[in-house]
Amino acid sequence: MAGGVHEARAGGSRPRRRRPRRVLMFPLPFQGHINPMLQLGDALHARGLAVTVLHARLNAPDPARHPEFRFVPVPDGVPAHVAARGNVIDIIEAMNAAMEADGSGPVRAVLESVVADVEQPPAACIVFDANLLAVPRAASAVGLRTLVLRTASAACLGCFMAYPMLHQKGYLPPQESDLYMPVKELPPLRVRDLFYSTWSDHKKMRDLLARANEAMENSSGVVINTLDALEKPELERIREQLHVPIVLAPGPLHKLCSSKSTSSHSTLDHQDHSCIRWLDKQPSESVLYVSFGSLASLDSDEFSEVAWGLANSGHPFLWVVRADSVRGSDGPAALPDGFEAAVHGRGKVIRWAPQQEVLAHPAVGGFWTHSGWNSTLESVSEGVPMMCRPQFADQMMNARYVVDTWGVGLELEGELQRGGVEMAIRKLMKGRDGEEMRGRAKELKKIVADCLEARGTSQVATDKLVNYILSL
Ligand code: UDP
Repeated sequence: MAGGVHEARAGGSRPRRRRPRRVLMFPLPFQGHINPMLQLGDALHARGLAVTVLHARLNAPDPARHPEFRFVPVPDGVPAHVAARGNVIDIIEAMNAAMEADGSGPVRAVLESVVADVEQPPAACIVFDANLLAVPRAASAVGLRTLVLRTASAACLGCFMAYPMLHQKGYLPPQESDLYMPVKELPPLRVRDLFYSTWSDHKKMRDLLARANEAMENSSGVVINTLDALEKPELERIREQLHVPIVLAPGPLHKLCSSKSTSSHSTLDHQDHSCIRWLDKQPSESVLYVSFGSLASLDSDEFSEVAWGLANSGHPFLWVVRADSVRGSDGPAALPDGFEAAVHGRGKVIRWAPQQEVLAHPAVGGFWTHSGWNSTLESVSEGVPMMCRPQFADQMMNARYVVDTWGVGLELEGELQRGGVEMAIRKLMKGRDGEEMRGRAKELKKIVADCLEARGTSQVATDKLVNYILSL
């Protein structure tokens, strides 16, 4: 509904009654970016704003699952072979090249027609992912204000903002000998935790980040999918350094969002709900849930070590193996010979999980994760301790916070070998350290739940955001 009366559901200052308004939203076309954008859209919609979602054709969301939104495709210009290779930086680069052509013409044309739609309430602003470099120019051409949604942590944004300093002081690009050196300007990070790409041309990434930062600095406000209780000093630093009218932290957005199909939306695969019935039969807190998100993969040796580590640990486990989980394999990932017989009745392997439901299930006692930010937030929100195996992008710094700042997990470092996997699983699921992590994870769950209460910081931030949008 795009109702005419704007009343906050909960929280601090109530949005004033004004004429109905509409928010346009434009996510980057990856699972970990689309989900939080739609979740924020849901929260805004529930507070009376109409929402139109612009989206690339790549990983396009299914409009049938979100009848509350309007969807408008934008030509993304990503060649099929680039999309198939799956290199995130290359995909973003191809998309930006196509969308920025002709003075951001392709995006401007879509915005013009969306803004001109008189059947919809007038557009107040566009909330976009700062990596979509064509948006600011196109939005300015049609007189629309921009807000940026950051789908990673505040620590990650702080790292991006510090990128010039990190290069100037020689932290980046990282030298092998410095990997464990603390970055004193960004505690608790060490050099190896910084956002840095080894598989993509670093200069390309640095240029992209510089332009994304510029888009953010010129925006009318920034929304970060985090919460004050988790990242207070990081948010304070950003608020001091970033000169935009408003910086808000209404996360975790999947919990703020009221629609189940939006909070756990998936563009990639069908969620296999049979795992919930399987979890129902397992003892409380006995199961290790294993998933490396939507993009991270393993080579075939690592895959085999993970499989045998799980098998040898003796613990029940639920393991998400995507069709593309093994790098360089021609077909879908094949489990090692003898594995299924070895774990019969104790292990379940599925292609894609209803992850939020899984993490909320009482049978789940631990999460072996690649430390993507959404997975981290989802685990923290359900009080599940983590075994972290970060691979790239912001995953190393997320793991650092899980282990060192919040004390709700351990990191599995070094070469992946079945013996190490087995020991780490035992430590997390049975050991005394694991018990302590589980205790702290439960405390953190309570803190997150408090933020989502009627006067909690996340609700207040959302109300502020709605008031701000209505004032634009
Ligand atoms: N996810 C899911 N089912 C799975 C694995 C992942 O629904 O089997 C969801 C998960 O809940 C999260 C997202 O995919 O919301 C992954 O985002 P994250 O930031 O953790 O990692 P990325 O995929 O971006 O590396």
